[in-house]
This record gives sequence, C-alpha cells and structure tokens, in this order.
Amino acid sequence: MARPLNERERRIFTAVAEAVAGAAAGPAVADAIDPLIRRMPGADRRLLGALLVGLEYGSPSALIRLKCFSDLAPPQREAWLRSWADSALPLRRQGAAALKALGALAYYGREEAWAEVGYDGPWLGRVEVPVHDAPRLRAPHPAGGLPRPGVTSARDLPAGTRLRARVCIIGTGAGGAAALARLAAAGVDVIAVEAGGLFTAADATQRELEMLPRLFRDAGLRTTADKGIGIMQGTGVGGSTLHNTGLVYDPPPGILDRWREEHAFPYDDGSFAALIRLVHETLQARPIPPSRVNANNDAIRRGADAMGWRWRRPDHNRDECSGCGYCVLGCAYNRKKNAALTWVPMAVAAGARVVCDAPAVRIDGRTGARRVLCRRVGANGEDGGEVVVEADTVVLSAGALDTPALLLRSGLGNDRVGRGMRLHPSALVQAEMPEEVRGWRGLPQSVVVNEFAEFAVDGRGGFLFIALGLWPGTMAASTSGLGASHRAIMRRLTHLASCGVLLHDETEGRVTTGRDGRPVARYWPDRRDMDELRRGVRALGRLFLAAGARIVHLPYNDAPPVADEAGLDSALEGVRDDVHRIPLASVHPQGSCPLDGRRSHGACDPEGRLWGDTGVYIADTSIFPTSVGVPPQVTTMALGLAVADRILEGLRASPPGPA
Ligand SMILES: Cc1cc2nc3c(=O)[nH]c(=O)nc-3n(C[C@H](O)[C@H](O)[C@H](O)COP(=O)(O)OP(=O)(O)OC[C@H]3O[C@@H](n4cnc5c(N)ncnc54)[C@H](O)[C@@H]3O)c2cc1C
Ligand code: SF4
Repeated sequence: MARPLNERERRIFTAVAEAVAGAAAGPAVADAIDPLIRRMPGADRRLLGALLVGLEYGSPSALIRLKCFSDLAPPQREAWLRSWADSALPLRRQGAAALKALGALAYYGREEAWAEVGYDGPWLGRVEVPVHDAPRLRAPHPAGGLPRPGVTSARDLPAGTRLRARVCIIGTGAGGAAALARLAAAGVDVIAVEAGGLFTAADATQRELEMLPRLFRDAGLRTTADKGIGIMQGTGVGGSTLHNTGLVYDPPPGILDRWREEHAFPYDDGSFAALIRLVHETLQARPIPPSRVNANNDAIRRGADAMGWRWRRPDHNRDECSGCGYCVLGCAYNRKKNAALTWVPMAVAAGARVVCDAPAVRIDGRTGARRVLCRRVGANGEDGGEVVVEADTVVLSAGALDTPALLLRSGLGNDRVGRGMRLHPSALVQAEMPEEVRGWRGLPQSVVVNEFAEFAVDGRGGFLFIALGLWPGTMAASTSGLGASHRAIMRRLTHLASCGVLLHDETEGRVTTGRDGRPVARYWPDRRDMDELRRGVRALGRLFLAAGARIVHLPYNDAPPVADEAGLDSALEGVRDDVHRIPLASVHPQGSCPLDGRRSHGACDPEGRLWGDTGVYIADTSIFPTSVGVPPQVTTMALGLAVADRILEGLRASPPGPA
C-alpha cells in the first residue's frame, strides 16, 4: 500500500484539481483520490510526489518566479499548468498530462460535482433491479487446511502453504479461466492462482472512485512508461472480463489468415470455429437487440447511416440486462456473463482449485517440476508470506503486461519475451449534440462502425469506431482543455456523445521490468499508425457532424473545437501528435509474447509452449502474433481452450508417475 498524500502534497493536488476543473473544490478532492493513490505502485507514487513538488516550484515564467503554484490565483494556475502541457520538454508535458487526468478524475468523481454536470448518479439505492443468482465459488475448507475445489483466499491459508497439482495456471482472466475449465473438465488436477480477490455483485457500488481501485490493476492508473497511454487491465477472479463491456466479437478472417501465413498459426477455419462456438455458448452470446441501442450509440449509428458507412450491432454476453450502464465498474446484478460466472464455476464444478489474493512473483525449478512462488497479500496489500504451488506444467495467463514480466523475473524464455506488444491505442472524439444523450446510461457499446476495418479482410490497416460509456470522472480525465475550456465541455455532459477510434496497430512496443520487478511498457505509435489514427479521428469527426453535432472536440491538445467539415480539416492540419499532446488509452494490450513457428520470431511456439521449455505455456492475449483489431475476449478464450488441449495431449502422453 502506497503512502497517502502528505499535507503539502494535498495542498498542491487541490490546487491542480481546481485549475483543471476551473472551480473551487477544497481539500475534499485530495480525500477523493486517496484510495487510488494508496494502490499506486511505489515507483509511481514517488513520481507523483516529485511531479507535485516540481510543479509547485517550477515556475514557467520569470514574472512569477517568486511564487508557488498553489499560492497563485486560479487564472495564473491554469496558465502555469497549460505552459507545462505545451512545453517542449517531454517531462513537463508528462507531468501536466498525469496531473490533469488525476485532478479531473478527483474533481468529477466526487458526488458533490455530479449536479453541476447533470449526472444522476448510481442506480443502486434508488432503482430496483433484482440481483441474479450466481454459482457459489467460495471453497469450503477447514481453517488451516488445504483448499478444496472452489476459490480460497490465500489469506485463509497458513503462510508457507505448499500445494501440489499437475497444472498450475497463473491468472484467471479470459485466457486462464477458459484453460482452467477445459483442463478441469478433462479430469486434470489443476490449481489457478490469481493476484486479485473474489469479486461478487455485492462488491459493485457503481462509483468510479470506489471501483477503480477494486477492479483494476494499479487502481486503473497503469500507463506506458512515459505516461503517454493509459492501460486498463482488470484484476480479480475473472480478470478483465469482470469490468469489460461484454462485446462478443470473433477474430476477423483477414487476421487469422495473416497469422496462419506469416506466423504458422496452426488452427484452420474449422477447428478454430469450433472453439469459438464453444466460447459463444459458454458466454451465452446473442445479438444486442435494437431496443438496447442507447442514445450515444444511436447518434453514432445515425452518423454512419448519413455517411453511408457500414456499422453493426454486435453480439454481447448479457442476460436480461437492466441497461444501467455500469458494466465497466463491474455488474451489480450478475447480468453480464463474465468469466467468474461462466468458465470458473464450470472449472470448480469439475474439481478445480483457485487461490486468490496470491500474485505469482516467480517460477523456479526445472522443466516438468516447477514451483510457482506466490505472495500472500493482506486486505491492505501487506505481505503475509508465501504460498507455493508445485506443478509439472505451468500456464501463464496473467495478461499482456504481467505475463512477460513474470517470465523475465523468472529468467524464462528467449529474447522475444516482452517484444511485439500491441495496444489497440484509442483516441476519444466528443460531440455536443442538440438532443440529450446521457452517454453513461444504457449499453455502453451497442453499435460498432466497421467501415474502415480493412484489417478484417486484408489483415492490415484500419480501425473501428467503438464507444465507451464514461461517467463524470473518467470522462473529465479524457476531455481536452483546462480550466474554463474544460469546464465548458463538462457542462455539456448530458448532451455529449463520445466514441473512440480503436486502431489496429502495427507498432511493436516492449515490456521489460522495473527495479521492483513490475512490468514497464514502452510504446508510442509510429508515424504510420499516428497517420492512421488521424484518418480515424477525421472520419469520426465527420460522422458526428453528419449526425447533427453542433460542436466536435478532437483529442489533440492543440485542436480547437470544430463546427463543420472545413473547420475539421483546418484543425487537423496543424495538430501535433507527439507523446502527451494527444491523450491515448488502451483497453486491449496484447502480443507481448507472440506465438510464431520460427523460434527467432516468437516467445512461444504456435501451440503456446514457451520456446525452449516444454513445461511452460502461455494462454492469454500475450500470444497474439499481431494486433487482432477487434475486442479480444473471444479470441483469447478460444486460444485458452486450444492451449489447454495441447497440454492435455502432452499429459496423456506422459501420465503421472507413482506418488
Ligand atoms: C474497459 C474495458 C472494456 C473491455 N471490453 C471488452 C469487450 O467488450 N469485449 C472484449 O472482447 N474485450 C473487452 N475488453 C478486453 C478483454 O476483457 C481483455 O482483452 C481480456 O480479458 C484479456 O484476457 P487475458 O486473459 O489476457 O487477461 P485478463 O483478463 O486481464 O486476466 C489476467 C489475470 O491475471 C491476473 N494476474 C496478473 N498478474 C498476476 C500474477 N503475477 N499472479 C497471479 N495472477 C496475476 C490478473 O489479476 C487478472 O485477473 C475490455 C477491456 C477493458 C479494460
Ligand atoms: S448494463 Fe452492464 S452493469 Fe448494467 S445490468 Fe447490464 S450488464 Fe450489468
């Protein structure tokens, strides 16, 4: 658990939040952000402290050299922060971007700010929605005994507990949970270890500042090393499926062809389609009905129709959904069929054991006789000793940042581990509509524009337009401008439509580890990808104008608001798009341990086995050989099943010896 803000830092942070929001707030904003700061990794917490102090004393102008940031009048603070945001020095831009996002989130995440922007707040406590029954996952076990089938918190096991299984899976998200269910159903003695806890519907509060630290890795504040791109990844039994938006999207044929031709992806259309069918059945996938398209997505559909562009209502994995809109903060009603309501109960029913609150720190031992060393974390993140799982085979499913980090910490794999990472970088375009939109309500993503998805056919190029329902805090963090200009946009929140350009990227990033062993992701889109992103922003701006938008806000820091196509073109001509001048987000990190038929090109072989180690497999988005271009949960789950099948073949070939 990181150190909370001290008095001086609280004062500076309050001044930052007020400068961003263009309004007074008082120290309550520092209190609001406290739960997120406590969950920050130590290195990020130290950086935040340095940034706050650097801003306080780092006057941009000789005229106000003798003053501190927090002593200034609001307009001067805004100018000071803007000068950092526009600075030629990347470090200052980085500081401005990070502090702005945190300040905006703190200001608008608080209930006190909601009335200002017309946000009507959570449904819980005021709209009656029955909670669907969920399978019981918690394992019955005697205190101090060994876990039985089901989910056991490492906190309930004595420190130093040693467990034994044939297979140990690390991480229970899309890939890990599917592999776990497949192996358990085949009768394999399998244990999964999970860094996060067991989340239930009762834990969901529909409040951003409470759910970000509960459901997301690093409290939702994970970024690339230079803070240029926010990376959202989930934690808990079910991983990122707990908070995802429930789109069930198959891997496009063009991408699978490219994987086969260039990377020796071993599954033909028939065999992979069978796995995808099983994923659909398990997730209870069905098309989103037209009546479920919310106002935000309907504006997107209208614009696409006006432009004559292709769009579709995709499948989703919700059952009798209430339309509350809080999917990304975890479903309070068990209506979203995430991995914790599907694959994990199937696995548990077949005898699988899951130990949560147990991040794996290292894998040691030799091929065929591995030890997975896990930390036993307390409720406040404190270290409570070790839990060790011994297994013949280990499967890494810790997600595209933590899987390579764990391999690197363990000294496993070749020099492709961590290389090739793609992010599907996404830029947000906002549009002020004449009608009320209230984009936080209803299904966040019910229309996808696929007019520019060239990759779906050719395996290369293009992007999707996909919305993401955002609430005041997260919307404010992604909104351009500072002070008065930021406030003017936020005041239009009820009428604000928004949509992201989700890029099928070719840029190859890299995951390494920091001194503390945590993943460090380095990535900024190359020129070709940035140009493609700009093509997407322009097209999305045109779409919103065609849908009747009065004003469109572009994601570039130096782009003015635009009201027509001529304005759009001239605004885009002058924009700069180097790091920190356009806020980007990634909700789909992938490809950091790519599979490939050539040992020199992949971290693992086409079957998901680590090159050079027959007892270690990878089953998560890390093994994508390129960016998949579409929401990845279906592809990841199908690959989880496929990797499990390869492990089963190996286990059948070498049955366990006498105990
Ligand atoms: C906001 C948002 C919306 C999304 N919407 C969609 C959507 O609608 N449709 C879609 O297809 N995709 C969506 N996604 C993406 C999708 O959910 C992910 O791509 C997918 O879940 C990734 O699967 P994974 O197995 O690679 O990792 P994850 O699902 O992230 O699981 C990794 C698990 O490993 C655990 N872990 C990490 N390190 C360790 C360790 N050292 N020891 C033990 N456990 C560890 C983590 O806690 C986590 O539970 C969305 C993502 C986000 C962020
Ligand atoms: S909109 Fe999302 S959070 Fe709300 S009930 Fe439906 S699935 Fe659950």
